[in-house]
Amino acid sequence: MPLTPIFYSPRQVADHAFISIQKLPAFVAGSKRSTIEPTPFTEADFTLAHDAGYVEDVLGLKVNNGFGTRSASINLALAYSNASLWAAAEHALAFGGLACSASQGFHHASYESNFGYCTFNGLVIAARKALEHGVRKVLIIDGDAHYGDGTDSCINALHLADQIINITRDQGIGKSQVGLDAAGWGKFTDELIQRHRPGLVIYQAGADAWLDDPYGCGYLTFEELGFRDRGIFDACRKHKIPTAWNLAGGYTNPMDMTVAIHLQTLAASDETV
Ligand SMILES: [Zn+2]
Repeated sequence: MPLTPIFYSPRQVADHAFISIQKLPAFVAGSKRSTIEPTPFTEADFTLAHDAGYVEDVLGLKVNNGFGTRSASINLALAYSNASLWAAAEHALAFGGLACSASQGFHHASYESNFGYCTFNGLVIAARKALEHGVRKVLIIDGDAHYGDGTDSCINALHLADQIINITRDQGIGKSQVGLDAAGWGKFTDELIQRHRPGLVIYQAGADAWLDDPYGCGYLTFEELGFRDRGIFDACRKHKIPTAWNLAGGYTNPMDMTVAIHLQTLAASDETV
């Protein structure tokens, strides 16, 4: 069975104790495979999704990052984490199938501001790079339990609403999918693909959609999260849409359960890749 390639750099881990950073090496260790190092982003890459002045101010430590700090260490980690999603997308576009980016922390990053542990919007950056590579349309399926407001902000500021489709909490995905089995999630994804005809899918496999996540926004059981992953992957595979997926949300303490949810996604991906 082929294994899903995982794009990840140990440099994504900053000197900041927060699960959204600390879970990444735990997930990679749990995957029991070697990872592929992305080429870090530069300032110009970040401006594909953001106002140039905002990017300059974050990198120059003049305004806070999404963790509410000003940190060269976090900025370096962001250059790798954002790059790892594009590296996974680029791999999927080149070779087809599924690729994983062991990253998170993107969807609350707006065009010229941030909050919620998100600083730069790696989803929009990857989507824009895909468009530059000739992809006509990118479909983002954001399974995080929170609204991807930053993604919408960037898409609207860049006037790319026709080319980058953001399916996010309560805007196409959420409690209305409660109760679906894998076939139901497959039909849900199938309809999105038929409607939008994307050349690339970016799927945020948010673990905070778990019913018992401490942030209290979850709506799916562990088993139902598995149905979601399997249905989405199956539909992407059936339509031969290159698919990059990453880790999002998930705040259990200890973090074992969040890592288990992400490893469940990886197992579904491995069966589909
Ligand atoms: Zn979230």
